[in-house]
Amino acid sequence: MGILKSILILSSVSAAIGGLLYLLGLAFWPVFGLAVLFQIFVYNLFMIWVKQQSAVQFEELQNERIKEYNSMGLDSVCPDENCGHKAFVPIKLDEENVYECPGCKKMVKVFIGAKSFLTTTPLEEDPFKNFNFAEGKEYDN
Ligand SMILES: [Zn+2]
Repeated sequence: MGILKSILILSSVSAAIGGLLYLLGLAFWPVFGLAVLFQIFVYNLFMIWVKQQSAVQFEELQNERIKEYNSMGLDSVCPDENCGHKAFVPIKLDEENVYECPGCKKMVKVFIGAKSFLTTTPLEEDPFKNFNFAEGKEYDN
């Protein structure tokens, strides 16, 4: 809304209030002045409220984004030897990851592990081949 239009509305409303109270025996200009100040005051309160609302919305959006960052997924193979169903499982890093296998309807728990290697170490095969994620160490063979 243009500033001229705002001033026009502000003046018209103030003039209307001033005129109305003038009919009731009050002086026009002081009432007009007070009406202008009152409208600016109410407008500012409204703007503060709008700003707070958008701040709340922004915060909600941020929280949603943080949730998105914490959730990913991976292809999990059902550990049941008779099933071996492959399913894409959403993974949350901050909680236990359990899902129902779509193949055999058993509950499967996914462990997330990380293993570090020197960049100079050549890796020819699956580095997790002998790694027990449940205990976080290599299987003792
Ligand atoms: Zn299964």
